[in-house]
Amino acid sequence: MASIPIIRTVAELRAVVAERRGKGERIGFVPTMGALHAGHGSLVTAARREHACVVASIFVNPLQFGPNEDLARYPRTPEADLQLLAEHGCAILFMPEVAEMYPSGAITRLHQSGLTEVLCGRSRPGHFDGVLTVVLKLLLQTQPDTAFFGRKDFQQALVIRRMVRDLDVPVEIVTCPIHREADGLAMSSRNRYLSADERSVAPGLFVALRAVNAAFLRGEHRASSLVGYGRAVLAREARWTLDYLEVRDPETLQERSAEARAGDLVAVAAKLGPARLIDNLLLGENVPA
Ligand code: AMP
Repeated sequence: MASIPIIRTVAELRAVVAERRGKGERIGFVPTMGALHAGHGSLVTAARREHACVVASIFVNPLQFGPNEDLARYPRTPEADLQLLAEHGCAILFMPEVAEMYPSGAITRLHQSGLTEVLCGRSRPGHFDGVLTVVLKLLLQTQPDTAFFGRKDFQQALVIRRMVRDLDVPVEIVTCPIHREADGLAMSSRNRYLSADERSVAPGLFVALRAVNAAFLRGEHRASSLVGYGRAVLAREARWTLDYLEVRDPETLQERSAEARAGDLVAVAAKLGPARLIDNLLLGENVPA
């Protein structure tokens, strides 16, 4: 297997990307926080389809973690990550230290209003400012043709699309489907926090979403009832602490107060033991049973 060069500095990254561009290669970019799984792999595979050179980044971005969140214990598995990236045809890994990304004296932050104030933004103040700041930096450092994000983080992908549009960042944003375990649990680096017992409960998050979808497909369109079905599923298992389960407009993220429509976002976040898990579906979507 070809070994992947690990790049630690922005200067080196710019040089290797320029070299690949000089050969006429298109550049695809997959930003991650590491502890990679097949969901990340699917983004690299998607990028490979139309980009001879795929750059992945691994950077656990301190800016997007709140003071009581899991920054210090976020899983780090660099060797396995490198192997997964190589297996999926990634060409370059950018893995900077915090001091490279935020040299002392860096005081500029990106802020977006509106879309960032609901759902995860409400429970994680400042989170999306941190995400936007690091993603814009990574896009400026890498200058890819296309950047790939997962729909598991639906709100994140939406907020990033909006930032790219508002700031005229010359990159195409592609959002890829949610990659799931066989039992329906959305793959996530944070699933590693779960005990075996909690892991057996975790697919309940998707069960709740599917219950909402099934009710919608049966003809129940009142948003409040749909949300009630989903919350009732989670309430059956005492180990869940619900953060939110809501039906929202998939473009504006405005809450549906009356009728839900096909294509609306149903998003859920809940804590299970040490892990805060999120998932979503679009109403009427054909989801695995
Ligand atoms: P993370 O390393 O968790 O920051 O995720 C890096 C990228 O992978 C983000 O664009 C995520 O949305 C995406 N991603 C994470 N989990 C999945 C999944 N289960 N399916 C598809 N994409 C995912």
